[in-house]
Amino acid sequence: MKISDIYSNARFALSFEVFPPKTPEGLALLYRAVEELSTFQPGFISCTYGAGGSTQDQTLQIVTEIRDRFQVTTTAHLTCTNTTITQLREWLQDATTRKIENIMALRGDPPRGEQSFIKVDGGLAHANELVTLLRNEFPHFGIGVAGYPEKHHEAETLETDIDSLKRKVDSGANAIFTQLFYDNTDFFRFHEKCLASGITVPIIPGLLPILSLAQIQRITNMCGATLPQNLATNLDNAHEDPAAQSAIGIEHATRQCVDLLKNGVSGIHFYVLNKSEATIKILNNVRTLLPSHSNNHPPSS
Ligand SMILES: Cc1cc2nc3c(=O)[nH]c(=O)nc-3n(C[C@H](O)[C@H](O)[C@H](O)COP(=O)(O)OP(=O)(O)OC[C@H]3O[C@@H](n4cnc5c(N)ncnc54)[C@H](O)[C@@H]3O)c2cc1C
Repeated sequence: MKISDIYSNARFALSFEVFPPKTPEGLALLYRAVEELSTFQPGFISCTYGAGGSTQDQTLQIVTEIRDRFQVTTTAHLTCTNTTITQLREWLQDATTRKIENIMALRGDPPRGEQSFIKVDGGLAHANELVTLLRNEFPHFGIGVAGYPEKHHEAETLETDIDSLKRKVDSGANAIFTQLFYDNTDFFRFHEKCLASGITVPIIPGLLPILSLAQIQRITNMCGATLPQNLATNLDNAHEDPAAQSAIGIEHATRQCVDLLKNGVSGIHFYVLNKSEATIKILNNVRTLLPSHSNNHPPSS
């Protein structure tokens, strides 16, 4: 199913994002996690496109296998990093042949070791150009794009970043999937500003369950998201107990989900990092806490 249909008629959908692992063992763990998560009937499962080059070829293989083994819609991420338009077309032709239905259209980060994104000769500079390429030459794909509740780290202000986001939507994106965040106030403010700017496509909050303080400090430093001080303190107080840190992360994400659902979000996109346990606990908690939230309740397993 295409992203445009997944969220149509105010339908709620969960989605899960995985990444291409580096080893066969990692791949086996990935498919086990996907099997467990599939029981929640997600709208789609997506697989990222490796920034460094080594895992890029795997994205299409993985989304094809997930779809065929677990009968779930998939979305393949694609970035413009170090890639010419000719190479993008070849990759999209491959995705077309495999009957992949959706593309997450991204600019991508600078290649490893580089400070800023530099468009290659014959390549694209921004994600809106990739969306345009898709709409003009591969109109059969559903298209997701990235949004940043705390603004993208290169943007001067949240407002200019939302102008860029609107350009992606006006070029043909069907839905926005946000960067991870830990304070729902950031998401609600972003959502309001997007609506005020004339964006009408679904804006799906992205959540990453925290497994440990070290992990989340590394990730938030990389992507520019804020770790609220009280959450960091709670995690720090449990620093010698990995299970306690994970429990804090699950409790926090559960509260985020309940609040988001009560506020009528169209979906929740989980960055599952190829693991299922924390996400399953969060979704089961939500089901217990919001048993009668019929319209916005995540589908039961
Ligand atoms: C849901 C999600 C999935 C992701 N998946 C991947 C993945 O699979 N692989 C990966 O490598 N990375 C992934 N990323 C990270 C993403 O590639 C980076 O955040 C990257 O730095 C920006 O990509 P973008 O598509 O948002 O770029 P853009 O939309 O191009 O924005 C990048 C910056 O340029 C500005 N801008 C945008 N358009 C214009 C324009 N036309 N003129 C001037 N300025 C402009 C924006 O305000 C922003 O500051 C993902 C992020 C999210 C939120």
